[in-house]
Formats: sequence, structure tokens, C-alpha cells
Amino acid sequence: MNTIQTDLSGQTAIITGSTSGIGAALADGLAACGANIILNGLGNAAEIETLRARIASTHGVEARYHPANMLKPDEIADLVGFASVEFGRLDILVNNAGIQHVAKIEDFPADKWDAIIAINLTSAFHAIRAAIPVMKAQDRGRIINIASAHGLVASPFKSAYVAAKHGMVGLTKTVALEVAECGITANAICPGYVRTPLVDDQIADTARARGISEEEVIRDVMLSAQPTKKFVEYDELVGLMLYLASGAGASCNGAAFPVEGGWTAA
Ligand code: NAD
Repeated sequence: MNTIQTDLSGQTAIITGSTSGIGAALADGLAACGANIILNGLGNAAEIETLRARIASTHGVEARYHPANMLKPDEIADLVGFASVEFGRLDILVNNAGIQHVAKIEDFPADKWDAIIAINLTSAFHAIRAAIPVMKAQDRGRIINIASAHGLVASPFKSAYVAAKHGMVGLTKTVALEVAECGITANAICPGYVRTPLVDDQIADTARARGISEEEVIRDVMLSAQPTKKFVEYDELVGLMLYLASGAGASCNGAAFPVEGGWTAA
């Protein structure tokens, strides 16, 4: 459980891609501070309902689920509109949905490139585009984009992911400048490796792409980049997100915060 305490009672948060991994942890953290939650993401309907019900009952907040596919702009707009329909406001938008594919550039499937750019970058554009008018009308809003250490530096075999995450940082800066006088902030969080289902899949893919074992991927590829030699923990991301969502974070705008044990300091 995170140790940050901030009161988000009565606020509404959308977290894209929150049926798994980082997004689920971020939703939990926002609910723990009193925010009403809109979950989103793919997955088994019964498991999603269990997650939704657990978050609502554990934290005494309202939690809803919206099934928008981040490949579909009209569904993303509907997700953002759902916050106003259900709760009459939208305070916090966390753009977190993401996928990965690891392959040499010459072997990189074009459809994987398109899907990664669409889900990891373009979906955030559509969500922000729909959210800003609502936030402007409230004179307050928080946009928190989950980028990556790969929004700041590159690694081989991740052309689409690195391009999308660098794009996410650029999008964050641009939005921040546009809304700075409206009580709205936009920031990016740039995690290093977190042990989620996305990373577990990547371990196998990277082992194939580099022709090494999965143990070697963890030791020599992933954690070798992180000076702490540790995976980033969910709570470390939750803590920064809550700070950015809170009143204390009001002057943080247009920043990309590394949470990667010092990886990008090198
Ligand atoms: P994950 O696979 O556990 O979760 C991804 C979420 O995105 C899931 O809820 C999934 O259903 C959702 N999603 C995928 N495609 C979707 C679509 N078309 N429409 C709607 N939802 C969709 O992955 P994670 O590791 O928790 O990653 C979450 C975010 O954090 C991603 O943006 C990822 O790039 C970023 N990130 C992860 C790490 C890491 O080490 N795990 C590091 C840096 C950044």
C-alpha cells in the first residue's frame, strides 16, 4: 500500500488500461485517496468485475468499467464522456494503456508498429482532446501520461515502443503549454522495468530477438540498465502519480519524471 495521503474525495479519475499491471495499481491508489474510478482495458469480464467490485468495496468509492478499445477513437471519446455521464466531472485522466513488441527493425511487423503507435500514443491524444473541454469548464484537471524510460532513451529492437513513448513525452509538453493557465497540468511518468504481464511477455520476446536465455534478459538487459538492479515497484509509481494529482503538484507541468532507479542518469 502506498504511503502518500492526499484527499481526492469527490474527484473522478479515468485510468486507461487499468485491468492489469500498472494501471490497476494506479486505479487502486487513486481510489485509496477517495477518487471515484473509471476502469478501462481488455480482459476477462468476470475478472474485471472482480477488480471493479474490490476497488469499490475496499476504498468506499464508486468504481465503473468502460470497455473502450484504445484502437478506436470514437470509443475513447465515449470513455471520456462516460465520466461526465456517471459522475458529472472528470478531474484526473491517466493515459496508461500500452502494448509492446520486440523485434529487429527489418523484421518488425508493420501491423505491430501501427498498433503500438495507436494504443501507446494516439489513444492519449484522443483522450486528452476529449477531456480538455471538460477540465477547462471545471478550471481544474490533471493529465498524467504513463510514458517510459523509453520515452527518454532508446533500446534496440523496440522501434515502435520507443517512438511512441518519445511521442508521449512530446505530447505531454505540448498539452502542458496549451492548458497552463486553465488550472490543468499535464505530466509524464517514465518508469523503468516493472514486473507486470507486459514485461513477462517481453522477457520471452527479447530472449528470442537477442538469442539469449530469459535469465540473461532479466540480468543483462533489463536490470543492467537500472543502476539499483531492482524492478520498480507499483507503489513508487502510485506515489508520484498521487503527488501530481494533488494540489501540491500544481506547479509541475510539462515534465517527464523518470522512475527507473537512475537508468537515464547514465
Ligand atoms: P499490462 O500488459 O499489465 O497492462 C496493459 C493494460 O493496457 C491492460 O489493462 C490492457 O488490457 C490494456 N490494453 C492493451 N491494449 C488495449 C486496447 N487496445 N484498448 C484498451 N486497453 C488496452 O502492462 P503494464 O506493464 O502494466 O503497462 C502499463 C503501461 O506502463 C504501458 O503504457 C507501458 O508501456 C507502461 N510501462 C510499463 C513498464 C513495465 O516495465 N511494465 C515500464 C515503463 C512503462
